[in-house]
Amino acid sequence: MYTMGVDIGSSSSKIVVVRDGKEIIIEKAIQAGTGSTGPQNLLEEVYALLKEKGIEPSDICYTIATGYGRFNFEQADKQLTEIACHAKGIHFLVPTARTILDIGGQDAKAISLSETGKVLKFFMNDKCAAGTGRFIDVMSRVLEISLNEMEEYDKLSQNPVAISSTCAVFAESEVISQLSKGAKKEDIIAGVHNSTASKVAGLLYRSTLKDDVVMCGGVAQNHGVVRAIEQEIKRKIIIAPNPQITGALGAAIFAYEEMVKES
Ligand code: ADP
Repeated sequence: MYTMGVDIGSSSSKIVVVRDGKEIIIEKAIQAGTGSTGPQNLLEEVYALLKEKGIEPSDICYTIATGYGRFNFEQADKQLTEIACHAKGIHFLVPTARTILDIGGQDAKAISLSETGKVLKFFMNDKCAAGTGRFIDVMSRVLEISLNEMEEYDKLSQNPVAISSTCAVFAESEVISQLSKGAKKEDIIAGVHNSTASKVAGLLYRSTLKDDVVMCGGVAQNHGVVRAIEQEIKRKIIIAPNPQITGALGAAIFAYEEMVKES
């Protein structure tokens, strides 16, 4: 039995197809989120990949949408929150996870999980760009360094710059001022990562931070941010395999469970 999870975020869309709720058949992301043609383009791409495997779109028996744009995906049979779906996806991938940190394009969430993967509590920052992917995206543009390169620069830093503004708008001016004073880009980037870490650490501490701590969301692909958070919380972080798709994976597993319930 094939089921599909679709996660439509603010900056990217992700689709996962699973067989019998436990085998990942396809996992795909596109850097285009809600309000764009990204989700439908991605769906077409997934259908083409399924066809290559001899699976027809009509073989998908249930689809659950999650993410910020979940109500805009009309092919979905049901919508679920990102909190529930990330928890489900992470518990499947890393059963020892007790704390999840998800940093996406416009928010950051800390989720406490029980041994069985139940959400015990969660905290979210969706009010302020600092501590989210948006903050890092703005800085990558100002510094003219791509997101892929940020972690390499972070590794080179000997003397990270302290960024004192907690507001992304003021922090951007601070970075421009540091650049004009001749600060090295690697030191500014490490400073941007440290500033993100101190912001999300507050969320983690409120969630009764327990090991294993697992990170997901697009920002988990930037190991410079992971380095900074590990230093800040003095704990090791496990990066989820393919961290951007864990919400879509959770949605696909929920879709399977829904089918089992109905049959
Ligand atoms: P959403 O679900 O809100 O669309 P994602 O979980 O996809 O967000 O995360 C988007 C963020 O991930 C971007 O704001 C960006 O900072 C970061 N990101 C995306 N791709 C990369 C990459 N290749 N390397 C590092 N960071 C990335």
